[in-house]
Amino acid sequence: MKYIGAHVSTSGGVENAPLNAKEIGATAFALFTKNQRQWFSKPLTEDNISKFKDNCETGGYSPDHILPHDSYLINLGNPDAEKLLKSKKAFLDELQRCEQLGLKYLNFHPGSHLGQNSEDECLETIADSINWALSQTEFATAVIENTAGQGNNVGYKFEHLAKIIGNVKDKSRIGVCIDTCHAYTSGYDIRTEETFLNTFQQFEKLVGFQYLKGMHINDSKKELATRVDRHDSLGEGFIGLDAFKFIMNDDRFDGIPLILETPNSEIWADEIKLLYSLAL
Ligand SMILES: [Zn+2]
Ligand SMILES: [Zn+2]
Repeated sequence: MKYIGAHVSTSGGVENAPLNAKEIGATAFALFTKNQRQWFSKPLTEDNISKFKDNCETGGYSPDHILPHDSYLINLGNPDAEKLLKSKKAFLDELQRCEQLGLKYLNFHPGSHLGQNSEDECLETIADSINWALSQTEFATAVIENTAGQGNNVGYKFEHLAKIIGNVKDKSRIGVCIDTCHAYTSGYDIRTEETFLNTFQQFEKLVGFQYLKGMHINDSKKELATRVDRHDSLGEGFIGLDAFKFIMNDDRFDGIPLILETPNSEIWADEIKLLYSLAL
């Protein structure tokens, strides 16, 4: 079965995310567990936590289909030691918040070398940061997102994801999330059946579907291999609907959260219906 949702608002408290997901007919959702543009947020209260869990249960949302996203400020590959430590501590806090909410996953962008060292060094630093944070938490899985490769960001090739995974000690707590927009603009064509199958054959060979914990379902405002990250509504961008039809009819994408991060939240309910209608 396919579980589809969107990255919903937590305005008023994390406990509102499952309610907002229900309103758009979602069977999965993503959320920020703290303000994504600030380093520090108030700790979650017992009230937040119990209401969140209650609302998930009432809405029928299992932690298997909820994909929290970390703050945009965090760079686990920062070449500056002091700034790196700040990022690692913030990432640890994010993992702890997920565990408090009983959530299994934390989705994050791998990081950036800021033009100050090599991609390989950056990927090693990221894996070290993940090991550091996992060793201080109990069960949450760190879910690396592929990137568009904008600026100095790493993670735009399946080889990068594989290299991080290779250096993470606890393989049971590392996974990946593939963003269709990022994959496309980083150079992976998914528009035809042939190119789609070829892309995911490479993914299987280099990373492996056992590590796939979620997908971000976005069309792209930018062309193939432009390495620019601009999401578009489904069918409105350069990717087109066929790629999403291939996903909906491929059981390798069953059982994981498929999350819309498309720009118009007004049509998320329609986009969810559209995706389900693409399943033959
Ligand atoms: Zn994404
Ligand atoms: Zn993006």
